[in-house]
Amino acid sequence: MKMFKSFPGLLFFIAAAAVMLLAGGSAEAKVRVVTSTPDFAAIAREIGGDRVDVESLSKGYQDPHFVDAKPIYITRLNRADILVYNGLDLEIGWLPILVTGARNSDIATLNSPGNVDASRFLTFVLDVPTGPVDRSMGDVHPRGNPHYMLDPRNGLLVAKGITEKLSGIDPENAAYYEENYRNFEKLLETRISEWSKELAPYKGTKVVSYHKNLDYFTRWAGFVDAGYVEPKPGIPPTPSHVAALIKKMEAEDVKLVLASNFYPQKTPRIISEKTGAVFLSIPTSVGGEEGINTYFDLFDAIVGQITSALGSGSGAAGSGSSMRNG
Ligand SMILES: [Zn+2]
Repeated sequence: MKMFKSFPGLLFFIAAAAVMLLAGGSAEAKVRVVTSTPDFAAIAREIGGDRVDVESLSKGYQDPHFVDAKPIYITRLNRADILVYNGLDLEIGWLPILVTGARNSDIATLNSPGNVDASRFLTFVLDVPTGPVDRSMGDVHPRGNPHYMLDPRNGLLVAKGITEKLSGIDPENAAYYEENYRNFEKLLETRISEWSKELAPYKGTKVVSYHKNLDYFTRWAGFVDAGYVEPKPGIPPTPSHVAALIKKMEAEDVKLVLASNFYPQKTPRIISEKTGAVFLSIPTSVGGEEGINTYFDLFDAIVGQITSALGSGSGAAGSGSSMRNG
């Protein structure tokens, strides 16, 4: 209250406040969007443009199953108008405790106006268990495979859902969000058909992945999943599993081993050396590598790395060369 002691001071304050309202009023009114992972943040930025403030809690080079819950995240969630998260229990180990700690009724529960479980925008979920799930199955995701953002068509569904949510919370800017969505849709559809064309020559390529987080990608790309470096989801590779996998890969002539770049590289590298398959350590989220700032950049990087590796390596069968990356 010190600043109101003198009348001229108060006048100045009022004048300054008026100027701020006229000039920068929109800055005050920005919708605050917090996302669990950078892919949702990238899409929220495309749709929200300059009407939103967007922050992702995790980084693209982190394993989204395990994120260190920092106190600053609680502050961010406390101020959020909207929380966009993956759902299907991907963030179950770290996000719920933060949301509880944030005490923000706008995002607190599934029924809160700003609580956006992006998996609800999907048309299908892979690997939904048909029977009961128990610990012997590994760290299985009981509501199905949560790694759906690696099918670029799902990015479109999520963008549409975020558009509707932003328009509902900030109806004054609904037309703006809608226009941004149409531009995003047009561009993403164009790029999806380009990426598909680039991948087309490699349809049917057999792939071994580290974790089951590439299944949506391989399905979209027309690849065939031939096994996993993890014996069960979330369980580190064992010597007996690796030996069996190498045998299977040799019998089935598997040419490609893929791992998100946050997974340990040693075992996939050994498998690649023993089988002659190409090993690629790839970014699987926006921010996963330097220069990947948008959802488009992400697929440019993944598709580019895979097609150039297969294009240069697949001709020389059994050459034993392994691709080093990252
Ligand atoms: Zn997973």
